[in-house]
Amino acid sequence: MPRAPIIRKSPADLRVPPNPPIGWQEARRALAGLPGGGVNIAYEAADRHAQGPRAGHVALRWLGAAGERREITYAELAALSSRWAQLFAARGVGKGDAVFVLCGRIPDLYGAVLGALKCGAAVSPLFSAFGPEPIATRVNLGRGKALVATASLYERKIAKVRGEMPTLAHVLLADSPEVRAELARLPATFEIVRTGPEDPSFIHFTSGTTGMPKGAVHVHGAVVAHYASAAVALDLHPEDVFWCTADPGWVTGTAYGIVAPLVHGVTSIVDEADFDAARWYRILQDEGVTVWYTAPTAVRMLMKAGADLARQYARPKLRFVASVGEPLNPEAVWWGLETLGLPIHDNWWQTETGAIMIANTAAMDIKPGSMGKPLPGVEAAIVRRTGGSVTLVERAGEEGELALRAGWPSMFRGYLGQEERYRKCFADGWYLTGDLARRDTDGYFWFVGRADDVIKSAGHLIGPFEVESALMEHPAVAEAGVIGKPDPVVGEVVKAFVSLKTGYAPDETLKKELLAHARKRLGAAVAPKEIEFAPALPRTRSGKIMRRLLKARELGLPEGDTSTLESPA
Ligand code: ATP
Ligand code: MG
Repeated sequence: MPRAPIIRKSPADLRVPPNPPIGWQEARRALAGLPGGGVNIAYEAADRHAQGPRAGHVALRWLGAAGERREITYAELAALSSRWAQLFAARGVGKGDAVFVLCGRIPDLYGAVLGALKCGAAVSPLFSAFGPEPIATRVNLGRGKALVATASLYERKIAKVRGEMPTLAHVLLADSPEVRAELARLPATFEIVRTGPEDPSFIHFTSGTTGMPKGAVHVHGAVVAHYASAAVALDLHPEDVFWCTADPGWVTGTAYGIVAPLVHGVTSIVDEADFDAARWYRILQDEGVTVWYTAPTAVRMLMKAGADLARQYARPKLRFVASVGEPLNPEAVWWGLETLGLPIHDNWWQTETGAIMIANTAAMDIKPGSMGKPLPGVEAAIVRRTGGSVTLVERAGEEGELALRAGWPSMFRGYLGQEERYRKCFADGWYLTGDLARRDTDGYFWFVGRADDVIKSAGHLIGPFEVESALMEHPAVAEAGVIGKPDPVVGEVVKAFVSLKTGYAPDETLKKELLAHARKRLGAAVAPKEIEFAPALPRTRSGKIMRRLLKARELGLPEGDTSTLESPA
């Protein structure tokens, strides 16, 4: 069907009036601050509610992989995290220390993370599918003093490398009889260590899409941005049942899977199991999810699973869907509208930004393919680097590097062990994101590609996203990853790797058809010259297509760091 470039919303499309566009000041006023001064994320997330009218409200609704279901109220979460804080404090863990948590998505992950914050330590949840070496690398980079793990993850992942982590003084097995008994014995209250807005809170590792993952250090003051962005970009209202599908091993799963819903006092769904299309539709239906925050990779997998499956489930409560992590192809936004009955709201941010910066909000009309507009308080610009300074690109439609005016509350405060690299991210008061984008005359931002992924062909700069989105419009295409392949004549030629939906055969006829389709949509200068079918594309565990790996494999070059590679693809 012909598709309009904009999805306009009427009041009838919105089940509840969207939140007002609050900025940092309003968010600061909405938060409590530690009694006696200072700010601590765990206080805002748990204790504040436990001491007020939301004490009995369900904070976490945990869905176990084997079908268990457990609800944890704010009062219970405050108590659980206080017990963990007591346990850490008894071992001398406090300000200046780092705690790592490797537990899978179980309730104690949330207790331990908030408990570590209560102690004043910085905390880093690790993705449980990491192998031993990536775990040891991260713990060593962060100089971890304590590590919380389950017994089985310890056996499989840590036992072998335990001797390689010299700073690690304590390993606590969350499900061991000793730790269970100690937790039960310890007081369910804890006097939170006084932290200020500049004290470290989280250490998050980047996805490793473009190279070796970096450890970004965040602070307690970031909670202001978590609160504001969840109000505006996710439209959280007090009675919402919210589901962020990201694992807390990635910044999205911590900022919006732990912190943001809890500081808003809503009920958050935690699913222990991995992606499964039918299971996910069932959760949306049975748990009455109202606001859903997911990722393009998940949307593409649901698209691949087909509309028939989607039709077998109802989503009567669902009212707002958002996505982050990769460009959201226009096709996916439309799929949302046609299959879920709701458009998908793309938003943009990075591990380094700590919170959503640019978004399609509930109050906005959506331009499919655009990541939206900067949130209140966020100043975004398109710039060009010239030596050590930047010049602003004022003209709408012109491409350049996406930059943010430095100083927003959730800005990262350093890369672990890489001071010089951190310094180089800033120039003339701007933070340079490494992403290329453009802004249109209405102020919407459009993602072009990562600076590292942009293809230079015969004098054109080609963003892989545009080519991938065009290919995705073809009914046979499930996923596409586009790279530049060195060419002596034009510099680079565009090559696309394509995985197909079930029912389509990867043959020459289809290849020709896809090449022709792309040429018609993009013109000969931008369309791929080569297409290769692949059963699946290599992805990070956070779901991003690893174009650098497609390129390295194509050129027979070393693959570089693959610690975050999902599975050999
Ligand atoms: P690394 O920095 O290690 O290469 P990474 O950049 O993928 O990994 P993250 O911080 O998890 O690590 O991801 C942030 C990046 O993801 C952004 O810089 C951008 O390239 C991409 N991204 C996130 N959201 C969007 C979006 N809505 N549209 C386009 N790209 C997005
Ligand atoms: Mg990055």
